[in-house]
Amino acid sequence: MENNPTMEKIVNLCKNRGIIFAGSEIYGGMGNTWDYGPIGVEIKNNIKRAWWKMFVQENKNAYGVDAAILMNSRVWDASGHTASFSDPKMDCKECKARSRADNLIEEYAKKHNIDVCPDKMTNEEMEKFIDDHKINCPKCGKHNFTNIRQFNLMFETSRGVTEDNQNKIYLRPETAQGEFVNFLNVQRSMRAKVPFSIAQIGKAFRNEVTPGNFIFRTIEFEQMEHQLFCKEGQDVEFYEEYKQKAMDYLVRLGFNREHLRYKDHDKLAFYAKAACDIQFKYPMGWEELNGIHNRTNHDLSRHQEYSNKSMLYMDPVTNEKYIPYVVEYSIGADRLMLAVLCEAYNEEKLENETRVVLKLHPSLAANKLAILPLMKRDHGDKANEIYKELSKHFMCDYDESGSIGKRYRRQDEIGTPFCLTVDDNTINNNTVTIRFRDSMEQITLSIDEVKDFVLKNIQF
Ligand code: ATP
Repeated sequence: MENNPTMEKIVNLCKNRGIIFAGSEIYGGMGNTWDYGPIGVEIKNNIKRAWWKMFVQENKNAYGVDAAILMNSRVWDASGHTASFSDPKMDCKECKARSRADNLIEEYAKKHNIDVCPDKMTNEEMEKFIDDHKINCPKCGKHNFTNIRQFNLMFETSRGVTEDNQNKIYLRPETAQGEFVNFLNVQRSMRAKVPFSIAQIGKAFRNEVTPGNFIFRTIEFEQMEHQLFCKEGQDVEFYEEYKQKAMDYLVRLGFNREHLRYKDHDKLAFYAKAACDIQFKYPMGWEELNGIHNRTNHDLSRHQEYSNKSMLYMDPVTNEKYIPYVVEYSIGADRLMLAVLCEAYNEEKLENETRVVLKLHPSLAANKLAILPLMKRDHGDKANEIYKELSKHFMCDYDESGSIGKRYRRQDEIGTPFCLTVDDNTINNNTVTIRFRDSMEQITLSIDEVKDFVLKNIQF
């Protein structure tokens, strides 16, 4: 059994099985944009559903929002993004490829086992490191770079009907500000008492130079984010709690704990009290999957300053007034999707073949049940009847083409946890065979039992 897939295997499986395609493919693609296919969109929706269940539904004091992607530009002044959300980039003078200086150093350091942290270096120090170590352009292999320049990562656009009344606006580079600017709205409308949290799932956009690790780093991606507002003093405990909850979510999704690790940030933002990532062992190595930050009362204080709206919260019991602290937990849905696929991918050697099977947690699988008539002519009508009924309760697939073995393999590759075979026994006795994806074992159930059996086994 192999479950250490290369990125190439994951990308090929995604393309061939309708999980993820290159964006705008018929026009030659567009660098680092990806489209989710019929199977992929289901898996990703299930990832988001599971997250929402754990971080909103199962929490008394959590409230969801869905804020606008386009926000008043003052928001980005307050958050600091207009001034300093940038990456150190340098261009290759030979082939014109643009690279991130910190990435070049990180890759080099990883390969040569050097302990260095580009986050702590100035641009001059990074340039010197790249020169001293003769680091080459990843595209053409030559060493001839421009100096480092800082590039803002926000995508700009403009609103307004005529040229002269256009205002510059931005596609949001993170979802977090949607939660912060709605702190007062949510607190008042829901009569929320601190500590409480605001959660959101939504798209974010960053004009990143990416090293091409499939959906790991893209220019358009989705974040699942949770901002907990609390009183100063409670923040340390909540930070620890969210570190644990973030890990519990991943383990509950079926991750092996040994493929995950905490990594404290080497360098903290000036306002932050603590920050760490959870990393996953991707095919290209250990990389950030999500972040947990103790952001103090920096965010709400900045919005108070820039909007002139008081962000003071009054404790209804003690009448004490304060600007709440924020503990942030943020995870990329696409980055998690990639981790889920890598973790689930297995190759098993059977007698005469290799079986590729995605051992997804059943709650994440695109289809929960595949309905397979043994013989189209004799069993097709009954199978269609079963499909019609069960697809009211969960996603089902229907497949009548090819040998039953081939049909099982196709379902294994997309992670369908159960296959239901309709045969003569179904017609004569109302029983069906249920085949389990992981063990390939089979049991017999009466048709009436199937719905509850599947519902019971696909819970997150
Ligand atoms: P990185 O260091 O990898 O650039 P970050 O620390 O800037 O990430 P945050 O701003 O903390 O990331 O965003 C929270 C989460 O959003 C990340 O942990 C990651 O899962 C996801 N994320 C951030 N940038 C991207 C991207 N370009 N593509 C896909 N997911 C991303």
